[in-house]
Amino acid sequence: MNNLADTLGRPMRSLRLSVTDRCDLRCRYCMPEEEYVWLPRESILEYEELATLVDVFTGFGVERVRLTGGEPLLRRDLDVLVRTLAEKPGVRDLAMTTNGLQLARYAEPLQRAGLRRVTVSLDTLREERFEYLTGRPRFDAVMEGIRASLSVGFDAVKINAVVMRGFNDDELCDMVEFGRESGVEVRFIEYMDVGGATTWKADTVVTRVEMLQSIGRRFGRVEPCERTDSAPADRFRLPDGTIFGIISSTSEPFCASCDRSRLTADGQWYTCLYAAKGVDLKTPLRSGANARELSEIIASVWKNRADRGAEERLNVSDRTAFVPVSALKGDSRLEMHTRGG
Ligand code: SAM
Ligand code: SF4
Ligand code: SF4
Repeated sequence: MNNLADTLGRPMRSLRLSVTDRCDLRCRYCMPEEEYVWLPRESILEYEELATLVDVFTGFGVERVRLTGGEPLLRRDLDVLVRTLAEKPGVRDLAMTTNGLQLARYAEPLQRAGLRRVTVSLDTLREERFEYLTGRPRFDAVMEGIRASLSVGFDAVKINAVVMRGFNDDELCDMVEFGRESGVEVRFIEYMDVGGATTWKADTVVTRVEMLQSIGRRFGRVEPCERTDSAPADRFRLPDGTIFGIISSTSEPFCASCDRSRLTADGQWYTCLYAAKGVDLKTPLRSGANARELSEIIASVWKNRADRGAEERLNVSDRTAFVPVSALKGDSRLEMHTRGG
């Protein structure tokens, strides 16, 4: 294995693989606009092409792969890709982030194909609010998907909830309770000003400190769990043993230990969620570059990586959305739903 470190000494360990830019929800913090420009179909990498690139990445020590999107379950025969990736010895942790709409149908085949962990994005437990936040009346489908995931034997089922002041911050404790009752770990994500979040406002962010105060008021003492890896979520334990997580990407970013990169469905590689430009891996791949040549491209980029996108945003005064709508329309790869979140 070729162990690479970037300019800040960070290794490359985790890859988020976006398998499609399409989505069947329109979350307010991700896809609030009326219309979107989609990646051309012919540019979307085939499963074999994705598998070839994953092999190159695992050669550098990437061991965690997370399927994402857009909505990954909109990609046909996703279990075929899962089986291929699960069989690779270098891929030690294969997970997926999904909105859960189609999980009732696909949880079992995906688990059988080798998917180990599933994270479902769910920001509210109230049906009407779900429709308001996601633009679609599909709350029941997500709940059914969560139940199906819990019944098929994944190693872990988690829920990610983006917390927005005035939208769902009154549900933190209800969600912790839901996690406790249903056996899922709930993780609260601070609202980020990334591409796609075109209506982002600083005062809508509920910080980790505020979340801990609000949960502590209801449940009593909140103890931090000891960290075991470089995962972005800080985990906490309540007096009754319930565990929940907070991903404080906005108020206390974790760039210093960031070992992840992202591949879009059309083969553009991003070394930071906030990076303005990606590295085109599709063109060399489709022109016949072999694994060594692809490795050289990746190594030369990672060695020079100095990204600290979220930390740099902390220094911006009068912060508003990171990418203006006009720029998003000109380059859809600046969108969170294309980059994979
Ligand atoms: N569609 C799938 C889903 O929603 O789980 C996968 C893709 S989505 C882009 C991945 C993650 O990004 C989701 O958990 C979503 O909540 C998160 N996300 C999107 N926009 C965000 C924002 N502005 N701030 C924080 N998290 C965001
Ligand atoms: Fe919501 Fe995920 Fe779709 Fe974005 S990609 S709109 S977060 S379901
Ligand atoms: Fe990593 Fe960039 Fe996110 Fe910082 S902002 S944690 S460097 S992806």
